[in-house]
Amino acid sequence: MPTAAGSMSLRFSGSTPTQELDLLGGSATLPAGNPPIVDVVAEYPKMRHNKSEEDAAVDSIQPKPTSCLCSKVLSNLKAQVMEGQYEATIPTMEDRAMQALYKLALDPIAETLADPNSYGFRTARSSADAASQCFTALARSNCAQWMLEGDIKGCFDNISHDWMLANIPMDKVILQKWLKAGLMENGKFFPTYAGTPQGSVTSAVLANLTLDGLEAMLKKHFKGQKVNYIRFADDFLVTGNSKELLKYQVKPMIKEFMAERGLMLSPEKTKTNIADGFDFLGWNFRKYKGKLLQKPSKDNFAAVRSKISEIISANKTAKQENLIQQLNPVIRGWANYHRHAVAKRSFSSLDYQIWIMLWQWAKRRHPNKGAKWIKKKYFMTTGMRNWVFGCKDQDGKMVILVKASDTAIVRHTKIKGDANPFDSNWNTYFEDRIGRQMGIKGRNQKKLVHLWLRQNGNCQNCGDAITSQTRWRLQYIIPRLLGESDTFSNRVLVHEGCNGLFAYRSLKAV
Ligand SMILES: [Zn+2]
Repeated sequence: MPTAAGSMSLRFSGSTPTQELDLLGGSATLPAGNPPIVDVVAEYPKMRHNKSEEDAAVDSIQPKPTSCLCSKVLSNLKAQVMEGQYEATIPTMEDRAMQALYKLALDPIAETLADPNSYGFRTARSSADAASQCFTALARSNCAQWMLEGDIKGCFDNISHDWMLANIPMDKVILQKWLKAGLMENGKFFPTYAGTPQGSVTSAVLANLTLDGLEAMLKKHFKGQKVNYIRFADDFLVTGNSKELLKYQVKPMIKEFMAERGLMLSPEKTKTNIADGFDFLGWNFRKYKGKLLQKPSKDNFAAVRSKISEIISANKTAKQENLIQQLNPVIRGWANYHRHAVAKRSFSSLDYQIWIMLWQWAKRRHPNKGAKWIKKKYFMTTGMRNWVFGCKDQDGKMVILVKASDTAIVRHTKIKGDANPFDSNWNTYFEDRIGRQMGIKGRNQKKLVHLWLRQNGNCQNCGDAITSQTRWRLQYIIPRLLGESDTFSNRVLVHEGCNGLFAYRSLKAV
């Protein structure tokens, strides 16, 4: 979600009820009056000195020494906040917790009311599903050939508070307090008249609830005219069998729908023929001789290239292993995002561009050395591969730069439009789907998927995601040697070769 660049806005509001709560429209006991707004920069020195007895008791407990890195990050963050450099809308921790609680109640409602082809910020859905739906709506020769690209102007900033208060199924008083909490910017208070609080726990689900309903409306009005709707957050596409249909009938209806909610379409967005192609979610979709292809878009490629270039420039004098550790997640993340697209060429192209940048980086460090010497220092040969950018770290472990072109291109199976993870009738469907995605087969599939879900998809040792890309193994909670059972209740899923929290974390944090 975009944040207002160059501004500093700290939102601190104590707008949460302290006693009974009825999450869905019932009464709640609330503090009277407007939510107090606290300017953290001004208040910080006072907070430090006004210690209650409780605080003093807490302070007297000697904390265990935290790692250097942790305290460094905290002190940097504190300095940034004090200097006003930190750009964010930060609700208080109490508000965040309360919003998370409300989100638990709102999610099942949002999933049930959602447009079948909305894919952004929803449980169990991804941009890959949205891309697959583009193929369903456009790939065959008898599909629609025209589409309207829609982008909602400043969606999160402009949603009408009145509309939300009248239509979002949650406690109106709480919602009003969240929406009207205002924000602090450079020491001044600015009231908020429209929009959802960006960066808050509930903003995406509130925006989804506001935009849902458009698909059903379009389907009802334009039956048999190949009108399909695909939305990801505030970015959407509508297909149709003619340019005129989209311009004179579909667009005015969408405009009206948006206007009711205080929203407008960005005027620069246009109607495109599929033969000319269009960009959506970082991909370019275009028909080449009647065949629809999905490739990484030019802008998306340029963005990752410039991010990598920035990292390399910022590490002119850094250790090689540190540079590799910063680059690998970027390359891996980008390649994984595009692994369902026609991306082999883009992957190779990125690898080549990175190689050029790294060669310049290495040459610059040793202006008086020859090419052979530089190659030997920074590049190695592993197996059949030459020019592998890698080195040994201080523990003698190999650190190697990953290649985007090593990522396998795999087919993505789209989620069914009406699949609802909160409806128990769909349990088997989701278990099978997760099992397939994770490469889990066989008689234990169901139990393994349950374990994975119980751990929120994360490794029990390091807390990072276990996906089809990472290898995994089962680990006993209590070792069997101590007489514990062999059942699944005594096991957790962890990454293969992931041994304990601290070792892994400290490796990653370097
Ligand atoms: Zn792990």
